[in-house]
Amino acid sequence: MSLSAPTRFGDYGGVFAPETLMAPLEALERAWLAFRGDPAFMSELAALLRDYAGRPTPLTPARRLSAAIGAEVWLKREDLLHTGAHKLNNTLGQALLAKRMGKTKILAETGAGQHGVATATACALLGLECTVYMGAVDAARQRPNLLRMELLGARVIEVEHGQKTLKDAINEAMRAWVADPHESHYLLGSALGPHPFPSIVAEFQQVIGQEARAQILAQAGALPDIAVACVGGGSNAIGLFRGFANDVDVELVGVEAGGEGIAGGRHAARFAGGSPGVLHGAYTYLLQDADGQVRETHSVSAGLDYPAVGPEHAELHDRGRATYPYATDAEALLGFQALAKLEGILPALESAHAVGWVLKEKDKLRRKRVLINVSGRGDKDLDTLRAALGQQNPGGAT
Ligand SMILES: *Cc1c(COP(=O)(O)O)cnc(C)c1O
Repeated sequence: MSLSAPTRFGDYGGVFAPETLMAPLEALERAWLAFRGDPAFMSELAALLRDYAGRPTPLTPARRLSAAIGAEVWLKREDLLHTGAHKLNNTLGQALLAKRMGKTKILAETGAGQHGVATATACALLGLECTVYMGAVDAARQRPNLLRMELLGARVIEVEHGQKTLKDAINEAMRAWVADPHESHYLLGSALGPHPFPSIVAEFQQVIGQEARAQILAQAGALPDIAVACVGGGSNAIGLFRGFANDVDVELVGVEAGGEGIAGGRHAARFAGGSPGVLHGAYTYLLQDADGQVRETHSVSAGLDYPAVGPEHAELHDRGRATYPYATDAEALLGFQALAKLEGILPALESAHAVGWVLKEKDKLRRKRVLINVSGRGDKDLDTLRAALGQQNPGGAT
């Protein structure tokens, strides 16, 4: 592996990959290092983000939520990006990179289908052939996204191995890449996996934090005291955090999925309930049992339901630059209801974890300026919401 880019974040990250993956990873790193410094590439990407995806996304003052909790809350609106979440920032970037590398085929994994839809969208726009690997269990419970991908021209392959969910889909997509490294690019959906993926994805997502920083300075006249984002693999959070990397007084908070609580083990809180180990090519915090077997995870939001976290977050955690508390399913649902009824925004259940944590900690956040990244919109979660809120009086007070 060429050492022109750092392959690790402190002790974390690296390239824990089979020999057959090394050549395509090296080629990808070379191409990325060339194009990230190429003004023509960067301006083409900036034009796509502006004219097609809808950047910059707004920064919204959450006036009624602020009044309700006694803090000054601002919302970064990635829910308003085309396809309804931040994922398109990364898929447009990587698809453009693949095209410049002369690739004609894109391979991707998807869990709930959001990354699959964002990938299929970028491929349709740029004229690339798209194959998405999806666990059979996920495909069965996410039919609308499967249909969206197919309507966008993608081929969806259902993975019948293992638990038939995201982890198995990643393995299968990597296998397909190794089998066809010259024609295909593996478009990984979060800031995880072996180097150079965590760095590439973070760079394509850092536009969130860069915009938010400039917007809050212009609109509030000051930096936030705290910047909060939910953490699945970690791409929307690292995108936000990188904008404030040098602002040491801005507290960075990544909210994990506490599921049904930490004690019972049904959660996806890698920092609260996990320990360092290797999964999908990187050394990072993950949920594993005493024998090093990766544990099953649970969250009401599919996008946070993954056993490992991106390695850059592991380093920020150990260094103390960012903290990683969690919000439970129930707390996320309260966050969802608050944003819906006080601000007229239906957030993704993933994003609702960040809001739920702010509600939970409102006494500590009194009078503080709080920036929340609304990573996506909640239309995709209607069935889950109906099931989860059905018994809980969905029209009731928040
Ligand atoms: C996929 C997804 C997430 C989780 O992924 P990260 O890489 O942690 O950002 C969060 N929010 C939404 C809306 C998503 O679609």
